[in-house]
Amino acid sequence: MTTAQRTALIATTLTCVLAPSGAARAADWKLDRAKAVAAKAWNDPCAGDVQVAVAPQAGADWLASTLPSQCRITLARELRWNPLCPVLLHEYGHLAGYTDPGNPLDPHHSSDPDSIMWPFVHADARCARHGIPYLKRAAGSRRKDGTPK
Ligand SMILES: [Zn+2]
Repeated sequence: MTTAQRTALIATTLTCVLAPSGAARAADWKLDRAKAVAAKAWNDPCAGDVQVAVAPQAGADWLASTLPSQCRITLARELRWNPLCPVLLHEYGHLAGYTDPGNPLDPHHSSDPDSIMWPFVHADARCARHGIPYLKRAAGSRRKDGTPK
């Protein structure tokens, strides 16, 4: 596995103990909703078949990693809605093959702190009110990073 295949969202802080290996217990409406928001944002890169698991990460400060070839996202631990939604928005960007030619040192991430593909988790308006307004919004204009508003 190359570094390019295994991309990670780096957390600014990691305060919780890592969850045990295995399938995500977060198989609830929040996970389904966050996956729906992320799938809409990135045109459903895995045709609705994204596997999300919880397992320790290679980097102690990573919140998640993604294997695009397997449509698989691994979270370091179970997450509340925020940051779950922005983390999945970011990881789905990797599934969709996001690249930033303007960021040659880390082309799988954006150098723009406002982009969901910036490598540090931050709030995203698409996750507001549990994603309901965003999911109801019809496809239309696009953001700087190419995802629908
Ligand atoms: Zn990333």
